[in-house]
This record gives sequence, structure tokens and C-alpha cells, in this order.
Amino acid sequence: MIMDDDYDIIVIGGSANGAQAARIAAKKGARVLIIEDHPTIGIPEHCSGLFSYYGLERLDSMPPPNIVFNPEIYGSRLVAPNGKTITVRKKERHALVCDRAKFDQFLIDKAIEEGAELLKPFRAFQAERSENKVFVKAKSKDGDTISLSSKIIISAEGIRGEIAKQLGLSPPEKKALINAAQFFMKDIEDIDPQLVELFQTREFAPDFFGWIIPMSDSSAKVGLGTSRPRAAKELEKLLNNHKVLKDRVKNSDTYYKIAGRIPITGPVKKTYANQLLLVGDVAGQTKPTTGGGVILGGIAAQIAGEVAAEAIKNDRTDSKYLRRYEKLWKKEIGRNLWIQRKVRNYINLLSDKEMNIFFEKLEKKGIIAQIEKYGDVDNQAKLAFKLLRTLSLYPYYLKTSVKLIKALMQK
Ligand SMILES: Cc1cc2nc3c(=O)[nH]c(=O)nc-3n(C[C@H](O)[C@H](O)[C@H](O)COP(=O)(O)OP(=O)(O)OC[C@H]3O[C@@H](n4cnc5c(N)ncnc54)[C@H](O)[C@@H]3O)c2cc1C
Repeated sequence: MIMDDDYDIIVIGGSANGAQAARIAAKKGARVLIIEDHPTIGIPEHCSGLFSYYGLERLDSMPPPNIVFNPEIYGSRLVAPNGKTITVRKKERHALVCDRAKFDQFLIDKAIEEGAELLKPFRAFQAERSENKVFVKAKSKDGDTISLSSKIIISAEGIRGEIAKQLGLSPPEKKALINAAQFFMKDIEDIDPQLVELFQTREFAPDFFGWIIPMSDSSAKVGLGTSRPRAAKELEKLLNNHKVLKDRVKNSDTYYKIAGRIPITGPVKKTYANQLLLVGDVAGQTKPTTGGGVILGGIAAQIAGEVAAEAIKNDRTDSKYLRRYEKLWKKEIGRNLWIQRKVRNYINLLSDKEMNIFFEKLEKKGIIAQIEKYGDVDNQAKLAFKLLRTLSLYPYYLKTSVKLIKALMQK
């Protein structure tokens, strides 16, 4: 039960990034309400739950062991379109795989511990500004309507961004979104529980990739992102026909299926306006290379929570003041997102044949070592620069130079 109808901050969306924003804003003393339209936080699930230790520490959001399936991810197996596999393994574990739904519940509990309130299952369907306030109407599944107001709205409502649109900011465009599907499978053969597998293949997953994220030595979250419309059908095709995968999954069992869409073209043009901040997927703060949106989105969301709480204290909820949110998140993650966007552009322009050649070049002495040293789930800028400066890759870049230039020029 909520306590009031007038708040300092209303956060629309009770998933990972809404929870991060609410938690910090409440901790800084603001009166915060989170509105979530689903009855159970985290459900429907829409994620692989693969997060870096560095990111979780940065967010002070380490999940408790009972919601972690696999705490020991050391690296990846990269699979070329022709099936050639390269293994990249770091010396230390750097990521974990957890239950994403339970992770969201854990984050919401943290926000509530700091004093945030939660209204669910209610869908915010209308938001209007009037005299430095925003008036919000939300409806329950039974049709009960509630009227609320706040000085600032933090939209953490995911890609559809209905409330953001009503208040004048745009969520990611449809063409920025990749369709994704993921099956939870058991009895898969040849799983190394310390390695995530990434399948580069235009044939089955154009404009993104397929993945196996191990939960144990025989079970995994197996998924794919694609620019084609029906991701689950495409994932079935991948599982039935991919030369490396088909034999490994022939005796396996799928016990749960999920789907979602991921923005992969980087941040939207503007993430602040009068009385409004956008965080997470609605702001396009998702990694264009891998589609991860919980760590970088979470960093931006925590910054938003902090800026919003300060704005309330200073009685400055105008866009001129709230601009500092965009400045601060860009300072921390903006360059990384920009570089990832260029890398994604380039990869998406390459044919499977060109990608096979790229894998052959990567096998050259020293390059794998560079990837192992500089590869990072969240920050790929360092590795991108290192690879760009690697002499033995120059002939390859020269051959694909038109695509490289196009990728750099593309927005
Ligand atoms: C298949 C798949 C696998 C992924 N794997 C990973 C991964 O391993 N690691 C990673 O970091 N990221 C991953 N991602 C991306 C990640 O799931 C998203 O980036 C992340 O969920 C974004 O969080 P968010 O809080 O911004 O938005 P969302 O998670 O989309 O949450 C928005 C919430 O707002 C609610 N809502 C929307 N509108 C309203 C409204 N009007 N009123 C009330 N409530 C509303 C929604 O119900 C939802 O709960 C994956 C995505 C997919 C699809």
C-alpha cells in the first residue's frame, strides 16, 4: 500500500534500472515511488543474467549466492560462421550468471530498504506537466485508476517509453531494436561452465549473434538476437542446423522460453527535459556489441537518482539543471557506448566470408593474448583501440576498408 499521492520522484518501471535510480534517490533523502505494471517484479523475464563482477561492485549490487547459477565465468568461446572456434580465457573470473528475475527483486528490495515505495501492478498511462509538477495516472489490472503527482519523473520503462513520449522525449526508434529469444536448456553436450559461447553468423543471426550462457556443465541459457522478426523461430533454426550446435543439443530439453527486444544503436538524442530523466533501455544505454543493459544502464540510473535527489533539494527541476545528468553519465559511459556502436556497425557490415577471414587473423600469435588482457564485458573501448593498432590486422582492414570507413561514418 502506498502512503501518499504526492512524491518528490516517481520512477516508472520496477525493473533493474528503475530500482537502481529509486534506491539512490531514496538514499539521498527524496520521497520516491516506483510504479510497475507487472504483479511480480522481474517477470516476464527478459535477460540472460550475465553480469561482470566489476560492474556489480561499481553498482554495489552483488547478488546473494542463492540467486547465482554460475559464479565462475572466465572467458568465451568465439565461434566463426564456418564453425572455427577461438577460446579466450582470462586468468581470473570476471562475470557471473544469475537468475535475472530474482536479481530484479533483490534490487527492488534494496530500494525499499532505502525508503522507496512500490505501486504494483499498476500501469502509468498518462503524464502531464503543470506548474513544475508532473501529474500521473496509473491503472491496475482490475481497472482501478489512481492519480499521483511528483516533481520529477524518472522513466525506466524500457523500450516502449510511453510516458517518456508523453512528456516530450523519444525512446529508441524501432529500427534500433534487435529481436531476441532465449531458451533455458538442459543436457547440452560439451559445455565448459567457465566459458560463454558466442556464435557469429549472418545466416542464422543477422546483425547480432547467438549465445550459450552456461548455468552448469550441462544446462545453459541459449539465445539469439536478430534483425529478423521472429527470433524464437530463428533460434530453433540455429539449434537444428548450425554445424557446431546441432549435435550438441540433439538430446537436450528446453524447459523455459523467453523473448525481448534490445536497443543496439546507442543512446537516444536526449535523456533529460523539464521534470524528466530517462534511464536504461528507454535511453538506449545498452551495449551495442553485446546487448547488455544492466550494468551501464544501472550506472546511468544511479547517476539519475543522485541528480534527481539533488534537484529536489535545490528546488531546481528544470531541464537546465537536469542537464547535468546527461553530462555525468556521458562522462562515465558515453565514450564506451560510442565506440561499441562503431564496432557493431563494422561487424554488421561484414559478410560471413569476411568474418571467417577475421577469425583466421585473430588466431595469429599475440592477438588472443591481447583479447585476454584487454577484453572486458562492459568496457570494450580499450580492446577496440588495441586491435585497431595491431599491425598484423592491417591487411584485413585494408581489404574491408570501405566497410570500415562506412562503419565509422554511420551514426
Ligand atoms: C534475451 C535477452 C537477454 C539479455 N541478456 C542480458 C545480460 O545477460 N546482461 C545484461 O546486462 N543485459 C541483458 N539484456 C538486456 C537487459 O535485459 C536490459 O537492458 C534491461 O532489462 C533494461 O532494464 P530497464 O530497467 O531499463 O528496462 P526493462 O527491464 O525493460 O524494465 C522496464 C520495466 O518497466 C515496466 N513498465 C513499462 N512501462 C510501464 C508503465 N507505463 N507503467 C508501469 N510500469 C511500466 C515494465 O513492465 C518493466 O518491468 C538482455 C535482453 C534480452 C532481451
